[in-house]
Amino acid sequence: MLVEPESRTTAVASHVASTSGEDGGDRNKRIREALLARRTELLGERAGTLTELGFHGGGDAGEDAADLGSRALAREHELALLSAIQTRLDQVDRALERLASGRYGWCEWCSEEIPVARLAAFPAATQCVRCKQLEERR
Ligand SMILES: [Zn+2]
Repeated sequence: MLVEPESRTTAVASHVASTSGEDGGDRNKRIREALLARRTELLGERAGTLTELGFHGGGDAGEDAADLGSRALAREHELALLSAIQTRLDQVDRALERLASGRYGWCEWCSEEIPVARLAAFPAATQCVRCKQLEERR
């Protein structure tokens, strides 16, 4: 891969630090930061969904049956969303636990690093993209 001369100093320095294997702590730190950012994002989504569900305790007096019906549908949707958010939060929490025990972020198949961006998007990922694709093709 070619690197622009102008960005060589900073880009290469961080690239080398993250791939040489001599500083796993730095990589773990970046993964941890990505996971924590994801966690904050999910907690925000969950708080927003809970608010929409009316868990803040607002009173809704004087609604007719049609309103109640559409509200029930919306509520079902919100509950499904809430459950999906919770599942992802659990994945992030498990990922953070595995990261702390030093067994996270490496492909189970080929032992290559799983890119931090992939881990942030799919905290439960245990394979790199290449191996995942190989598995799906079988
Ligand atoms: Zn792999």
